[in-house]
Amino acid sequence: MIRKVLIANRGEIAIRISCTLREMGIEAAAVFTAADESALHARLAKEAHLIASYLDVDEILRAAKDASADAIHPGYGFLSENAALSAACEKAGIVFIGPAPETIRRMGDKLESKRVMQNARVPVVPTWDGEPPDSEYPVLVKATGGGGGKGMRLVERPADLDAAIGSASREAAAAFGDSRVFVEKYVRHPRHIEFQILGDSHGNYIHCFERECSIQRRHQKVIEETPSTAVTPELRAQMGAAALAAARAVKYRGAGTVEFIVDPSERFYFLEMNTRLQVEHPVTEMTTGLDLVREQVRIASGEKLSYAQADLRQTGHSIECRVYAEVPEEDFRPSTGTIELYEPPAGPGVRLDSGVARGSSVGYQFDPMLAKLVVWAPTRQSAIDRMKRALDDFVLLGVHTNIEFLRRILATDDFALGEVDTGFLDRHPGLFNPPQDIPVEAILAASLPLPSSKDGERADAAAASEDSGAAFSDAWTSGPWRNS
Ligand code: ADP
Repeated sequence: MIRKVLIANRGEIAIRISCTLREMGIEAAAVFTAADESALHARLAKEAHLIASYLDVDEILRAAKDASADAIHPGYGFLSENAALSAACEKAGIVFIGPAPETIRRMGDKLESKRVMQNARVPVVPTWDGEPPDSEYPVLVKATGGGGGKGMRLVERPADLDAAIGSASREAAAAFGDSRVFVEKYVRHPRHIEFQILGDSHGNYIHCFERECSIQRRHQKVIEETPSTAVTPELRAQMGAAALAAARAVKYRGAGTVEFIVDPSERFYFLEMNTRLQVEHPVTEMTTGLDLVREQVRIASGEKLSYAQADLRQTGHSIECRVYAEVPEEDFRPSTGTIELYEPPAGPGVRLDSGVARGSSVGYQFDPMLAKLVVWAPTRQSAIDRMKRALDDFVLLGVHTNIEFLRRILATDDFALGEVDTGFLDRHPGLFNPPQDIPVEAILAASLPLPSSKDGERADAAAASEDSGAAFSDAWTSGPWRNS
């Protein structure tokens, strides 16, 4: 029986996990670092423990003991795929809400995980430990211990391979403390399509359908949706079976994700397995009715899965937009500052998993993702309309965000047609044109007649932000002035 859980994370995911725990009647304790003293997840928590770092296994265990927690939920990022934390929990008699250390270790190594999947007859991308035959170019150099798109290099010609291996392996050593790299066939115009899986400790496995995650910047996801427009019922059945084979091959326990790339002729290849809750898990929850955190907790408590494969249905369509503090037009440079005004969207079919509020400061220490805006609607087109509306309603001033950029993606014909692959943003350079600058005088004139004190705050907020001119033009295009 799990009665109290230490949430070893921050931001939106710490808050989202706490929601489910409290609904289950389980106590939740938060952790925070000195830099996060006033962070929303720490302020909202009934109980919060100061730690030196979110990446320090000993500190997390100490906090769990101080909290008398009987389990740790690692969220995503930080220590969520760290076999040492899972092992340390086992040793300390604390339940780790995630897979066994051995599973994390094997799946964290891209080469080892491919070997496992190949043995399980899951199709994998052709891979070489050294030089590939000339006919196989272009190829990708990848970091064996990689993640987050780091340590990856596209190589078009054999002559460029050595240099790419050198620079990828230096980047990998700096980022992951592991300089090993390998070479993989580069799949042209691929889609990134992944399957959510669940496995319990009684040998039951289910998949919860796919997520389409092809809209990416620098190999990182920006918009995710389910169902995928590319997945026919036949392809879903094949890929679902492969995802289950992958889960069985490692006796997977908990919630995990099997990532595939799919080429234009519907051939699919295993890419990697993520042994944790995924950022984009809400789109699966919206269309299946599952609460994946609840399932994780149940599995960790030794219970059986609450659903069999035949019980699961996908209903309607869900889209998630990741709201980042960044400037898409300037190579996605992160933006920092204080959130001076925050009016999130609401209304039918809208879910916001947010880690910030008005007054939150956004710094360089952590990932620039501020919130995830998720919608559900009966059809894909109505979900797109709903997402556009929700983005229109989203007012966030004080830091630059990608909200306008997200809206432009959703407005493209290709997105409407579901014609997406991982090269989508490169093929749409027009998305990066900055919105037309509106003269500050015009904005001031437009804002003056607005009578309520709230509108006065808006002007103050924009003026107080790092770069008030830009904040004004963001407000102009994303805020309520646009329609007034
Ligand atoms: P990471 O673990 O660093 O996120 P992944 O292996 O999951 O790396 O790949 C991230 C993204 O890079 C994929 O979603 C896809 O867009 C691109 N990618 C990876 N491997 C290939 C490949 N063999 N061919 C084409 N694109 C790829």
